[in-house]
Amino acid sequence: MKIFCIGRNFKDHAKEMNADIPTDPVFFLKPDTAILNQKTFFYPDFSNDIHYECELVIKIDKVGKNISEKFAHKYYSKIGLGIDFTARDLQTKCKQKGLPWEISKAFDNSAVISKNFLDISEFNTNNISFKLKKNDDVVQEGNSSEMIFSFNRIISYLSKFFTLKQGDLIFMGTPKGVAPVNIGDHLKGYIVDTEMFSLEIK
Ligand code: MG
Repeated sequence: MKIFCIGRNFKDHAKEMNADIPTDPVFFLKPDTAILNQKTFFYPDFSNDIHYECELVIKIDKVGKNISEKFAHKYYSKIGLGIDFTARDLQTKCKQKGLPWEISKAFDNSAVISKNFLDISEFNTNNISFKLKKNDDVVQEGNSSEMIFSFNRIISYLSKFFTLKQGDLIFMGTPKGVAPVNIGDHLKGYIVDTEMFSLEIK
């Protein structure tokens, strides 16, 4: 199983990172060991600047390769919500040196993924709102309408390079508002008003 993560898919987040708006999707991978299987995220000792990035997550239903954008909708039926935890201090160092990002993005427990996935047929895929609350304050809000690259464009693009398989997950990128977490924080994610995950930083 593969976990793809799209970067810079929201203009306002690209801006806050001082990054260019991409012309093709930017992405990286997390291994399956990145999945957080509990309700607690233990702050790792290799970073002093772990940021949350709340993101919509699509689950792939069937094998596909070179999928055209027109047929991409046939390859997913469920949507969930997650956090792409990022060691921003390590990522900044990697970027400065032009090195790969994995230590900052793909470490153990860096992928929060909701247990439940919702039927995407219940939504207009171009208008799915989501938000993250930290200690009961809304800290990130986004809508799939603001994505630079649509779900279908991303699936089509990724499938040029990688065979997509049932169970593969795609994090669709984060809106603006990324910021550090601290020990003791409580994070809750919502698609529209449905609570998708709830976790504690320890
Ligand atoms: Mg991200």
